[in-house]
Amino acid sequence: MCVPGCQEAVRAALTRRGFFKGAAAVGFAATAVAPAEAAPAPQLRRFRTVVDLTHTMSPEFPTFFGVPGIEFRKQFDFKKDGFNLNWWNIVEHAGTHLDAPIHFSENGATVEKLAIDTLVAPLAVIDVRSRGAQNADYELSRQDLFDWEKKNRRLPDGCCVAMLSGWGDHVGDAAKFTGKDTAGVFHFPGFSAAATEWLIAERKVAGIAVDTLSLDPGPSKDFRTHHAWLPSGRWGLENVANLDKVPAAGATLMVGVAKVKDATGGPARLIALV
Ligand SMILES: [Zn+2]
Repeated sequence: MCVPGCQEAVRAALTRRGFFKGAAAVGFAATAVAPAEAAPAPQLRRFRTVVDLTHTMSPEFPTFFGVPGIEFRKQFDFKKDGFNLNWWNIVEHAGTHLDAPIHFSENGATVEKLAIDTLVAPLAVIDVRSRGAQNADYELSRQDLFDWEKKNRRLPDGCCVAMLSGWGDHVGDAAKFTGKDTAGVFHFPGFSAAATEWLIAERKVAGIAVDTLSLDPGPSKDFRTHHAWLPSGRWGLENVANLDKVPAAGATLMVGVAKVKDATGGPARLIALV
């Protein structure tokens, strides 16, 4: 059971710092509100649902370079060899994946050096779907961030700020997802340079995320958001799925990125605890 205040206590416990202290926080809240009742037995789950923010990767998944982001070769076959095993050839930056600071800097952190506690983050979802529907090149603005804070709270320290543009619905249609025109220019929403610089200067954010192919808006040629964000020591996530299935505030994101030495990025299993 959950007494009044318990849900809030659970949510508070799921902040980056308090994540593993959840049992103590919940036990205290239950005892304080209803002292006559025995404290609930310890539970492993301290959330209502788990949402998969990861697209299924395949050679057909749309990519920035227009080549398959993953290729398989069956190296061992069950009938012949007694077991199945594929060899993969993958592009670091394809499918649902992480950008490490080294991706756009000379000496930035590679994937295996990312601090593990930055990979468990409160998730703030900025919904720009209505603007994206009107303008495929929409740039998430500082005003969008202000509006989120007005409705919710100040962006929490160590959070991930995610753009929900609605593009995640189009991954099955490469032409629509990339928006590539006859001149080869992409069209999809991304973070504006102004919003990115404001986040760096004014808030303590661990990472930013998009449901499109790039942190920068599609037509960008100078990748100002990448150039500002990644060298600042923070990470990015691209091609994120199901951001419409999590609340604007209150979920906790777990970034399960493959820990590969010297990687500039890599496939990530993104899990939201709600
Ligand atoms: Zn990338």
